[in-house]
Amino acid sequence: MSQFDYDLFVIGAGSGGVRASRMASATGARVAVAEGRFLGGTCVNIGCVPKKLFVYGAHYAEDFEDARGYGWTVEGAKFDWPTLRDNKTKEIERLNGIYGNVLSNAGVELINGYARVVDKHTVEVEGKQFSAERILVAPGAKPFVPEFPGREHVITSDDAFYLEEFPRKVIVVGGGYIAVEFAGIFHGLGAETVLSYRKDLFLRGFDLDVRETLRDEMTAKGVDLRFNSSVTKVEKNADGTLTVTWGDDSTEVCDTVLYATGRVPSTGKIGLEDVGVDMAANGAIKVNDNFQSSVPSIYALGDVIDRMQLTPVALSEAMALVNHLYGDKEPVEMDYTNIATAVFSQPNIGTVGLTEEQARENYSNIKVFKSRFRHMKHTLSGREEKTFMKLVVDEETDKVLGCHMVGADAGEILQGLAVALKAGATKKIFDSTVGIHPTAAEEFVTMR
Ligand code: NDP
Repeated sequence: MSQFDYDLFVIGAGSGGVRASRMASATGARVAVAEGRFLGGTCVNIGCVPKKLFVYGAHYAEDFEDARGYGWTVEGAKFDWPTLRDNKTKEIERLNGIYGNVLSNAGVELINGYARVVDKHTVEVEGKQFSAERILVAPGAKPFVPEFPGREHVITSDDAFYLEEFPRKVIVVGGGYIAVEFAGIFHGLGAETVLSYRKDLFLRGFDLDVRETLRDEMTAKGVDLRFNSSVTKVEKNADGTLTVTWGDDSTEVCDTVLYATGRVPSTGKIGLEDVGVDMAANGAIKVNDNFQSSVPSIYALGDVIDRMQLTPVALSEAMALVNHLYGDKEPVEMDYTNIATAVFSQPNIGTVGLTEEQARENYSNIKVFKSRFRHMKHTLSGREEKTFMKLVVDEETDKVLGCHMVGADAGEILQGLAVALKAGATKKIFDSTVGIHPTAAEEFVTMR
């Protein structure tokens, strides 16, 4: 009989924590998971899932316009924010229930409340202590808002999902995933939308052609993109509106200011410093290749280790860790290369592998194939939007190093290409693959 209450005590029932808990439990380990807020974490509650529902909702504005060219008359189309917001919330509550069932069916004990690590084998939740052979810390991350006068008047993506009233005018600050996705959502749902980013082009780290294409398409749709702009102050007016002051002293009135300026690990109240867990300056837990922290019985994964803040990455890390601890005991092999990702901007971005800029830095000879075309759907809708695709190839080995796309369903299309890259596909293999006609995706195998 073990000297501990549990073999594994997991802190946080988000994507990584839930996956690790139920997989570990399935191997026979005695597992508990503590959660103080909601089951499913950021992704299910205030991230990927509700965001994607909002993206679908926002796209109807264009769909109604596009339908005309196909003979449809769409009269009196009107958007009702409470309907979308509340239907979304019902769906999230349904998913919370599913997560609860998944955990209990897997035999994982769910403990409600925030957990604090007391020592290397002890966790406290709501005044009650539990011992465990191993502790897995997976509390995720939370929005970061820099310090500036009026900071208390701005919202983050956490709040955007539950707004009481839909704003007439929104200023989104930031130039990452969340900023471009929410700018597209607000604009699509009918708000006058400004996106303010501190440097000259958003989505740093993405392929330059992709960034420029999205800039052009968002501008064409009517999102007011302000690059090289910084908010210095936000003031609340008597009528509830906000006045934003910019670095050049110009001002602008709006209803909502959304800050999407990154996310930081949620390690503030867990007590990890007190037990000697090494952390980075931003609170990220430092772990080795086996997700083990500087305290051998304490592990961490997901957003809190700040490697790649993506749900599927947390899931893969959880499976790798459980396999290592309770499976075949082989060293963890989490491969962070060629992880595909999508930005649900409007239009979407899908990307996997190296950008052209990264490839040029790392390979002596690369070849780039690009295609920009009007999607077949828009031949009748009349929309000018262009779809963009790009392949980055190593000339020496012919290996495809990167695939990038901006356009409808980019995320859906890139998943299959990620498999090809993972398998080491060459451009010759792409070329010898027969396309599916007529699709936009076939362009990826016909670029010469
Ligand atoms: P990101 O890290 O992607 O982007 C943060 C943005 O904020 C950058 O443009 C950054 O600018 C800017 N910024 C940072 N600090 C400041 C500051 N002090 N003042 C002004 N601007 C600032 O963060 P997000 O919040 O957009 O998203 C967090 C993470 O969540 C993402 O990295 C992603 O991993 C994940 N995510 C994934 C999604 C998906 O898969 N579709 C969707 C949403 C989130 P600069 O570039 O100059 O540093």
